[in-house]
Amino acid sequence: MKNSITIGKVKGIDIEINISWLVVFGLVTFTLAMSFFPANYPEWSSFARWSLAAIMAIALFGSVLLHELSHSVVSIGLGIDVKKITLFIFGGVAQIEREPDDPVKELKIAIAGPMMSLAIAITTLVASRLLSLVEAPEFVTVPITYIANVNLILAFFNMIPAFPLDGGRVLRAAIWKAKGDIEVATRIASAAGGVFGYLIIFLGIFLALTGNIVNGIWFVFIGWFINQASQSSYQNLIVNDIFGKIKVRKFMSENPVTVNSSISIKDMVEDYIYKYKYSSFPVKSRDRVIGIVNIERIKSTQRDSWEYTDVEAVTEKLNESLVVSPEDSVAEAMNKIFRNEIGRVLVMDGDTLVGIVSRTDILNHIRIYNQLH
Ligand SMILES: [Zn+2]
Repeated sequence: MKNSITIGKVKGIDIEINISWLVVFGLVTFTLAMSFFPANYPEWSSFARWSLAAIMAIALFGSVLLHELSHSVVSIGLGIDVKKITLFIFGGVAQIEREPDDPVKELKIAIAGPMMSLAIAITTLVASRLLSLVEAPEFVTVPITYIANVNLILAFFNMIPAFPLDGGRVLRAAIWKAKGDIEVATRIASAAGGVFGYLIIFLGIFLALTGNIVNGIWFVFIGWFINQASQSSYQNLIVNDIFGKIKVRKFMSENPVTVNSSISIKDMVEDYIYKYKYSSFPVKSRDRVIGIVNIERIKSTQRDSWEYTDVEAVTEKLNESLVVSPEDSVAEAMNKIFRNEIGRVLVMDGDTLVGIVSRTDILNHIRIYNQLH
């Protein structure tokens, strides 16, 4: 993840903190020390308030970390390696090396985190009850009760059946087991994620309108995050599972129309763009492909110079991000298409141009695929 710092290693797993997490850390400490404690325990000194606030923020950190470690340890135990754990604004992510290949493994890995959170919650809850029985001082019972609540929230929030949250993974594993089809399972679990995302957003708006603005905004953020995450995890699955298996050769448009690099932009617009109605063309110079030109690059030059400027001047020259081989997977082509500025890749067999794949080709394929399923 971008903007992350590694703070240590546990069982060979890198523990990383994203900058966004530091914001949460600061916010939690600040809110507790400046608002929650003064309102509830006005007799506490400011030193006591700030140090206890910091300890509780660290306990929050520890709770999320233990949750993620629990996923990781089970995952490693099942033979799926975990490279790192990243803690960020909405919690943590254990980066497992690959998706589990059977539903039972997925279920075990998914349930491990919430189980850990629940176990911590129950233990600390019992501890805080016992401590209040013996009339332990509040600055001992308050943080322990807080840890209990945090872990209870972690367990329940993560069990929302919205993929890619743990609960969504459990749901996916169950459907996967029942139907024997990971794709159908992912589609249903992601759809549930989308719906729950919207529900949480609406709940947030409702809270904000009824005066609970800060919590309302948090709910909107979290709902939006779940909604986005569920959509992108489904798209990732399509990309990797379907496009990972298709070769570019089967997917490309063959024998694309090429433009000669020495003709003028004006001629290209009239004789190619208007005629063929494509927005980009591979460019050839003496029978060798030298790059690609598209409407955006043409538009970036002064219109009154089009008559005197040749196509070569606006050609994006061949580079690694513009070229794939016919034997590459469509997933690889897609990665390049969504990264380069042209929105296309040329399919080259050695020095020979054999085809072209565009962003539109891929989106059309996804659309047709969705209609057929
Ligand atoms: Zn989890």
